[in-house]
This record gives sequence, structure tokens and C-alpha cells, in this order.
Amino acid sequence: MGNISIFNQTAYIVVTYLALFLLCFSCIYASIGNKQNKGIWLLFWGLIVDFISLYVSLHSSEVYARGQSVEIWVFMEMLLCLSSMLLLAMASSHILINKISDIPIISAFGGLGLIAIVFFLYIFPDNNMIMKMRYIFPLAGFAYLSVGFLYQITKKRSSGFIFAGMVTTFASIIMVLKLAGINYFIYEAWYIPASIYILLGISMIMLKADIFAKKYDESCLEIEKNTQRIEEIIKYSPFPIIISRLSDDRIILANSNAIKLFDIIPNELDRYHFKDFFADGENRQVLNERLEKERIVQDFEILVKTPTGNTPFWLLASANIIDYNYDVALYTAFQDITSRKNSEVLLKNQATRDPLTSLYNRRYFEEEVFKRIVDSKVTNEPFSILMIDADHFKKVNDTYGHKTGDKVLIELASTCERALRNDDIVARYGGEEFVVFLSGVNAQKGKIVADRLRESISEIVVYSDEGDEVRFTISIGVSSSEISDNIDTLIKTADEALYKAKENGRNRVEVFDQDDLVAFDNKETQERIKNEVNNRHPIFDKEESTEISLLDGIEANHIQGEHTNIEEQDDRIDYPLLGVDEEDLK
Ligand code: GH3
Ligand code: MG
Ligand code: MG
Repeated sequence: MGNISIFNQTAYIVVTYLALFLLCFSCIYASIGNKQNKGIWLLFWGLIVDFISLYVSLHSSEVYARGQSVEIWVFMEMLLCLSSMLLLAMASSHILINKISDIPIISAFGGLGLIAIVFFLYIFPDNNMIMKMRYIFPLAGFAYLSVGFLYQITKKRSSGFIFAGMVTTFASIIMVLKLAGINYFIYEAWYIPASIYILLGISMIMLKADIFAKKYDESCLEIEKNTQRIEEIIKYSPFPIIISRLSDDRIILANSNAIKLFDIIPNELDRYHFKDFFADGENRQVLNERLEKERIVQDFEILVKTPTGNTPFWLLASANIIDYNYDVALYTAFQDITSRKNSEVLLKNQATRDPLTSLYNRRYFEEEVFKRIVDSKVTNEPFSILMIDADHFKKVNDTYGHKTGDKVLIELASTCERALRNDDIVARYGGEEFVVFLSGVNAQKGKIVADRLRESISEIVVYSDEGDEVRFTISIGVSSSEISDNIDTLIKTADEALYKAKENGRNRVEVFDQDDLVAFDNKETQERIKNEVNNRHPIFDKEESTEISLLDGIEANHIQGEHTNIEEQDDRIDYPLLGVDEEDLK
């Protein structure tokens, strides 16, 4: 394509070499990860072979100057021109159609070219034709190449191909001008090959940029397809599903089931944050921590609230971190488990509550008090146990009927529960007997609380079915941490005090004190020996190591002087509903 004027000055040849190097580097860069890389390399080697033909041309002109035969050198130059044309043609074919076989091009064009060379060089030597062939071969190569490049115009992201097409067309035009013999300065200029190498190098880099752009387009398309697929799945899912953005927790997609379940306004989806639906913030925190660790969390129970403020309900959630529409998002599918949760609560209540009064049952009371006693040992806080029994309750049943008796029990239970603090435990111990654990309350304060409770209950009026006013009283026995820290002993001693209250006329409170302890101990020791083997209370099994005999208790209290000083005890006891406050308890 060029001419031997390149070799006139060292600067020209250096610039041409540099341009070739640049082309080489851009070809390396463009061919990485490019399906058409074979075409790129064929183009590069086509240009190199064309450049080598210039060297041979230079050599043959030197040989000619010495007056020697140049036939062989011209033959070699022609062969190189032909090879260059074949390489460029193959490059074009590879750019036009991937995975093309090179054999037909080599055999057809190569065969014809070879015949022409032999014909005009040896059979009918024609200098003029040989001169023309110097340009015909590269022209054919470049023209075919420009067709290959320009053919890609219709495709997306083809700026590199278009530019390369323009460059190769420009090279072809130069050679047409040479062939036509139009004496135009440009085709004889030394810088033509260098310029074409550089421009082709630039087009190779543009080609690479097109590949990146294509990959970006493909991934955008892939993301859009994915988004559509996810939206379809979500839309037709029988479960409520929500997608929320991880960065700002905003809801970005919710299917109709979720919209219904969470009372969401469909058009204002992005107003909602996922966290808004968690009734318990800690619950959300736990979910987040698990997601951070595992990315997928299954069967996670959450208590959900809705913006309309309906009663919170339970859902089973499966959450998964996904890529959704250029965002990292949280995909959460839900299952309504309110009825399951309700039946769980019901079952738990059935196991721990008394069905008539809804108070805790005896078993729960004993288990819970056992734990409280263990805690109180650590905190050194006092506590009291109240044993409550309705007075002459049989008479209530006999006079007004069993149904009214039940009403009385319900009223009695609810009064106890309302009057006492949340920290206290009230339970139905049996028929018309109730038991109370007063936390942080010693015997003396316990008596005050019990007395006020007794008074409150004596004021209750229940109406029978016949409309009769039914009033009733209770008796209370009090035992406390000053007597024992063994649940069984505490209940027995409170019962003993209750018995005393009944004996002393009912509607009164009696406290089991230190004096009662010795007499009780004798009775108790005998009973315990009798029961030791067969009839142990379950609580004793748990408390084997902490059980303190009554005598031990006395000794401990007396010897160590640990008997609680009433005046020094907790001042925070406050039972406003009973009219018992700090002042009363001092
Ligand atoms: P005291 O003052 O000595 O305690 O006399 P009392 O009549 O209350 O004692 P007693 O133990 O003889 O009677 C308790 C009665 O409580 C007998 C029983 O029919 C009744 N009772 C037990 N459980 C229930 C219940 O769930 N509903 C009703 N209506 N009565 C019950
Ligand atoms: Mg009774
Ligand atoms: Mg009774």
C-alpha cells in the first residue's frame, strides 16, 4: 500500500514502526474477549506482510540499480502482495461471518493471483501489469475488508466497525488513485501507511469499547428480563410477597396478596418502609442479623402490625437477599400463621390457666414461684405467700346455686388480679382456694396487703340469677421468706395460718410467725417421714439441694441473725387499688 519513500529517512521509518507497534497493541487489546479476534489478527498480519513487501520492493530496486536480474525479487514481492491480500480477505470474511472456512478464499483468490503473477512475470512479461498488480492486490484486500467492516453498520454498537470501514475505504481509494495514475501528492506520501496503521489502531480500540457497551446492553437486558420474571412470579404467587430495597428499606414491590394483608395503598408503595410492619423492633433486628450472616432466612416468625392499626398478627416469613432491577433487595414471602399461633397460645393457656377464672393453675404457680425463690436468693429480696379461701362457700352454692358460686369465684379472682401488681402471681389453688405470691413483700407488709385485699373482696356484690345480692368474705393465711424458702413448706405454713384465720372467726388474716414454727415442725417432721418414700411433692425433687428443713430455717435465722428487719425492707411496695402505698407499709 505504501512505497519505498518510507525508507528515505530514518525518521520516516521510525514513525512507521511506531505506528505498527501501536496497531499491534490495539489489536492485542481489542482481541481479548472478542469473538472476532481471529479477523483482527488476520488484518494485522495482512498489514505486516504488506509492509514486508515494501522491503522486498526496496531490495529489488537496489538490485536493479546494480544492473542485476530482479525477476526473482519481483516474484517474491508479488507473492507477498498476494499473501497480504489473502490475509486481508480472510480477515474480512471472519469479520463478516464468524467461523468461516478459509480454504475457499485461499484457493480461489490465491490460485488466480498466482496464475496472474506467473503469467505476467514469466510467460508474457509485462512490466506495466506487474506495476499495477502491486496496487491491485492490496486494493482487493482493502476493498473486501471495508465491505466486511461497513456491513456491520446495521448492528448496534458498531462505531468501531464503521470507523475501520471508513479507514479501509480511504486506503482503497488511495490505491484506486494510484492505479488510475492520477498524480495526486497523497498517494506517494511516506506517511500514508503510518496514518492507516494508527487510524486502524484507533478503530480497534473503538471496537473494544463497543464490546463493553454491548456487554452493558446485554446485562441491562438480562436485568430487565430478570425483573420481569420476578414480577411475574410474585404477581401470581398464592403467598403475600414484598420486595424492599436494602439500602433504604423502602417497599418497591408488593403483590396483591401482600397489599391486602398489610393494608397498603397500592399507588403509594414507596411511602412504606418494611420495618413499619414489624410490631416488635427487636424481631426486625434479629432478622437483619440473620440475613447478614446467612443471606437466606426461612420460617422466621414475625408479629406484624399494619398502618391502619389493626391488632398485630403473626406471620411466618422467608426472606432472601436478591438482585432486583439494579438494586440489592430483600424478597420476603409470608404465610399467615395467626390461627396456628392462637392455638399455640390456647394450648399454653390450657396447660397453665384455670378455665373458670383464667388465673394461673396450681402447677404453673408452683413452677413459677420456684424460679422466683431462686431469684430472690440472689437479690436477697423478701416475698410472701397468701393462701386465700372463701368463707362458707358451700353455703353460697347451697343458697344461690352453683352458677352463682362460679360467678363469685370469677369476681374474687379478677379482684385479686386487678388489685395486685403485675409482678405478683395469683393462682387458683383448688375449688374456692387461691394462692398469691407477693414479690418484694415481707410478712408484715404481706399482712397489710392481705387485709386490704380481704376488705376489697368483702365489698364485692354479685347478683344471682334471681337478682339476689350475694356478698361474701375470705380468710387469708400469710407465710413469707422469713419462715422458709421452700415452696412446699411455704404453702403448708400459709395454709396453717389460713386454718387459724378460719378458727378465729373467718373474714380475717393470720400470719404464720416464728412461734408457730416449732409446733408446726413437730407435726411436719412426722408427716414428712411418712411421705418421704411415696408421696413427695414434685417441687422437692427440683429443689433437693436447696431444701431447708424447718429446724435449719430457725437455726439459720437465729444464729446468723438473718431474720429480716421489717423497717429496713423494701419501700417501693405500692398497691394503689388496695389503698396500700409506701406510707402504709412503713
Ligand atoms: P370454710 O369457710 O370453712 O372454707 O367453708 P366452706 O364452705 O367454704 O368450705 P368447704 O371446703 O366445706 O366448701 C368448699 C365448697 O366450694 C365446696 C364446693 O362445692 C365448692 N366449690 C369448689 N369448687 C367450686 C367451683 O368451681 N364452683 C363452685 N360453684 N363451687 C365450688
Ligand atoms: Mg376450702
Ligand atoms: Mg371455704
